[in-house]
Amino acid sequence: MTASAPPPGAPQPCDLLVRARAALVLDAQGTVLSDVAVAVVGDRIAHIGPAAEMAALYVPARTLGSAHHLLMPGLVNSHNHTPIMVVRGMVEDVGFAPAYTPGVPQGDMLSEEEAYLLARLGAYEMLRFGSTTVVDFYRHPQALARAAREIGLRSFIGGRIMDADTAALARREWRADPAQGERTLREAMDFVAAWSGRTDMVTPVLGPHAPDTCSPALLRQVAELAEAGQLILHTHLHQSPMEVEIVTARDGRRPVELMDEVGLLGPRLVAGHCIHMTEADIALFGARGAAVAHVPVGNAAHGSVAPIRALEQAGARITLATDTKSGDMIEAMRMALAATRIHGAGFTVSSHDVLRWATHGGAAALGLAGEIGILAPGAKADLVLLDTNAPNLAPLIDGPGLVVHSAQGGNVDAVVVDGAVLLEDGRPTRFDGTEVIAAAQAVSRRLWERAGHTPRVRA
Ligand SMILES: [Zn+2]
Repeated sequence: MTASAPPPGAPQPCDLLVRARAALVLDAQGTVLSDVAVAVVGDRIAHIGPAAEMAALYVPARTLGSAHHLLMPGLVNSHNHTPIMVVRGMVEDVGFAPAYTPGVPQGDMLSEEEAYLLARLGAYEMLRFGSTTVVDFYRHPQALARAAREIGLRSFIGGRIMDADTAALARREWRADPAQGERTLREAMDFVAAWSGRTDMVTPVLGPHAPDTCSPALLRQVAELAEAGQLILHTHLHQSPMEVEIVTARDGRRPVELMDEVGLLGPRLVAGHCIHMTEADIALFGARGAAVAHVPVGNAAHGSVAPIRALEQAGARITLATDTKSGDMIEAMRMALAATRIHGAGFTVSSHDVLRWATHGGAAALGLAGEIGILAPGAKADLVLLDTNAPNLAPLIDGPGLVVHSAQGGNVDAVVVDGAVLLEDGRPTRFDGTEVIAAAQAVSRRLWERAGHTPRVRA
């Protein structure tokens, strides 16, 4: 049972009482509760019980939700680069490597302020569509942290570490750029030092960009630093055939084998994509208990399907991410389910599985199992309410299948992170969403013009 024993005696004060028509608890049994309320004290869930009983037990400082809301734990969005928002809608149809295409704004062109303004848009979008915990890594990690703090997300943030000469990489040749390696590693470690232990809302991680953009020596150095600091590691792995080709030619081994040899492949690693893998690659990745940040929408847009069911069966933990496409994790869940079926898993994967990946999977990979991704007394109060007064959310009979197969991020009506109501009636409570969008629009337009592109839509 998820409901804890009612406190004895007179009605108790609580900070927030959240009412819902139904709640997806997302425990191992797949419990769905009806006509329910959740009492929040501080940053945690204090008690879950029948709405009428809870109304008699608690005197809340404020209330949220209603008899037409569906409650679920906040979603964990495990792989993003929010400043890349600048190229959204512009590069998806040009192929794999827009980063090398003339006329496209490049990451290195972004100032810290520009990265911050774009990161705010990415963070706002994720919050708006029900993500409460996110992983974000790119240049200017301090700008990403500032944006995540302002928007209110629980975040895991790292600086992008790499030492490849990217111009050579574009010609499918490996050449090291040691100065870049030193600079990006220093920036990443400065960020770790600045944010370690400061707040549990921002956790610094180490983000070596990918096996084909980092030398083995740099990867080894990152592995040692992560071990010493007990830091979570984030990277891209087996994302493209080109990555596999470059690493195999350079090191005589496959990317996943390289990651193992340098000491990065283990339970602390969350690896984005994991698409182009052989059975042996999958077995090795799974045996080390690493986590996949599965990006089903992005993969599909590139014509790829990652072998997620096989990875899970091999021992890998599965997490879901939107990777700065649309920030809609419900769309990602639906596409993840479709992807497993396209890849041959048939109906062995269910809505319950993808809900688990979008919550527990991410929580476990980030060291927060039991803390987030579940509705339970003692867990963090990271909550999402969908408005079921929407034609795509009827009929509501059981719950999980309706959310995965029919809901949209736009159905998210309210979001609570760490006990704080950050979205209500679809609107942010702590910042001006219109200003966030306008600022990102202005900076993006300027960056595209600076790159030599004439926008077709007038300012
Ligand atoms: Zn990525």
